[in-house]
Amino acid sequence: MAKDIVVVGGGTAGWMTAAYLRKALDRVGSIRVIESPRVGTIGVGEATFSTLKLFFDFLELRERDWMPSCNASYKMAIRFVDWRRGGGHFYHPFQRYEVVDGFNLGEWWLRLNAEEARAGEGAGDAPFDYACFTVPALCDHLRSPRFFDGRVFDSRVQSFFSEAEGPANKALVEHRVQYPYAYHFDAALLADFLRGYAVRRGVEQIVDDVIDVRLADDGSIDHLVTAEHGAIRGDLYVDCTGFRGLLVNRALGEPFVSFGQSLLCDRAVALQVPADSRAQGIEPFTTATALDAGWVWKIPLYHRLGTGYVYSGAHASPEQAEAALRSHVGPAADGCTANHIAMRIGRSRNSWVKNCVAIGLASGFVEPLESTGIFFIQHGIEELVRHLPNGSPDEAVVKSYNRIVGECIDGVRDFLVLHYVGSDRDDTAFWRDAKRASMPDSVADRLALWRRRLPDPKSINPSFHGFESYSYSVMLLGLNSRHAASLPVLEQVDERNALAAFRAIRERTAHLLATLPSCYDYLAHMRGELELPAIAPSALSAGAAIALEGAGRQGGADRGEAGEQAQA
Ligand SMILES: Cc1cc2nc3c(=O)[nH]c(=O)nc-3n(C[C@H](O)[C@H](O)[C@H](O)COP(=O)(O)OP(=O)(O)OC[C@H]3O[C@@H](n4cnc5c(N)ncnc54)[C@H](O)[C@@H]3O)c2cc1C
Repeated sequence: MAKDIVVVGGGTAGWMTAAYLRKALDRVGSIRVIESPRVGTIGVGEATFSTLKLFFDFLELRERDWMPSCNASYKMAIRFVDWRRGGGHFYHPFQRYEVVDGFNLGEWWLRLNAEEARAGEGAGDAPFDYACFTVPALCDHLRSPRFFDGRVFDSRVQSFFSEAEGPANKALVEHRVQYPYAYHFDAALLADFLRGYAVRRGVEQIVDDVIDVRLADDGSIDHLVTAEHGAIRGDLYVDCTGFRGLLVNRALGEPFVSFGQSLLCDRAVALQVPADSRAQGIEPFTTATALDAGWVWKIPLYHRLGTGYVYSGAHASPEQAEAALRSHVGPAADGCTANHIAMRIGRSRNSWVKNCVAIGLASGFVEPLESTGIFFIQHGIEELVRHLPNGSPDEAVVKSYNRIVGECIDGVRDFLVLHYVGSDRDDTAFWRDAKRASMPDSVADRLALWRRRLPDPKSINPSFHGFESYSYSVMLLGLNSRHAASLPVLEQVDERNALAAFRAIRERTAHLLATLPSCYDYLAHMRGELELPAIAPSALSAGAAIALEGAGRQGGADRGEAGEQAQA
């Protein structure tokens, strides 16, 4: 087992790695983090993936311990806007389909929407996302995923959110359920928070520049040369130096495999925009709005909005992109400073080379369309812990790590390619070129099948990459609902159970809307800025007033739980 671990880089990746390793490895002698006083962090990366809760659970941090310090809020879905030729929006929720008589509700929606909707029954005339899931309506009405007493709205996973018990599992590899939400946060504040956590537990912080990396005869890293602290040696080096890949790419010469042939967006311009959350509420979802040369993210934090335009540098200049972003945001962007970022899209051929493991942007990155950057970090750290060798790294272990990490990043790349090829937009050169960009064979083969039928667990990429078949199905239905026909066999199956399931979703949605607090009120309450017992409903923002009223009228939120359970 490595005795001394040296992490280079103090961004989100560096401090997530140091905090996790310190907690996971009692017997490692030292963990040191070297962070440059000169080179900044990327400092965006504010939307996350639903599995991130496992990371905080592992560190034994409850939401109220870290969320207020990081201006964090909740995210139940991504709202895709204008990704279809005719405009409009759809949600990609953190919510699996229910399954009725062996077929998921996406399939049933395709079958029933056409006929029974016309008769005012069936899945109703609701779009597929509102018909199949409760989350879209909760998002529209700015609801919190938790009741004031802390219970999460989806009773199927409530025990995982209980503070008393804590989840039985805290690792991605054993994760079997779908958590219904992720987080939005200020990435710089999270890095600060984790720095404090790690340093209090014995991680040493060294503020200095690594100015050289000296190799041993076998090509591994012998030691690092720093500007102020001289030579620094370790048994294992973790490269968290971001897009630079200072150790893994520059010093060890590991090639970087670009995804530029398949994903065209390679630049971003970001703004931090003030917001009055109390007056406007907090949207519990990320928005991804398609523009002429890419798409704009909007990430609501407790105190402000993070927004940015991810675009193709071949289709827009930085000046054009900034102008388009400012025009999209409107007057709220006035006076906000733009941060222009060149993105390295792809991955190091191998993330683990000799005695160095790259984590974070140094390992790999795809455009943040599904908020996977921090998920890659979490995955890389967990796999590192599982692959730590007894003595010096052995070839089979390193190979296994590299395969697992590579497959995960490639799997997400393929899923993102689907976002572009699945969309029917072709109104600008970017959208036409995005569809002509080379499609990995893995995507091309599957897409041919998915034009006939919706993705299912057997037809998606089987390697772990965080996304389940429901996500693929949702994206295809959302991007162009005529993409797949319903399964012919469903014509032969009695639809009554499916009709009942759609009706139950409508009823459950109505109940949750009446009983869940608003996202703003829940977070304000968590932060101690909203005292529930002392206030009259009229003093609350609209969402909480409805919630309290609904709870009284319907005998408390327990009813909602029972309603959920009946469907689970
Ligand atoms: C435009 C954009 C939007 C994104 N949005 C999301 C999102 O919504 N969700 C998500 O999950 N992820 C997102 N990401 C990814 C996310 O930002 C990163 O995964 C995350 O911030 C980790 O970055 P990092 O720590 O690897 O690198 P960085 O933040 O770049 O940190 C690098 C560190 O290395 C240090 N360093 C560099 N050189 C030296 C040296 N010579 N000596 C000492 N130290 C050195 C720097 O000082 C710094 O501390 C986004 C990324 C971009 C570019």
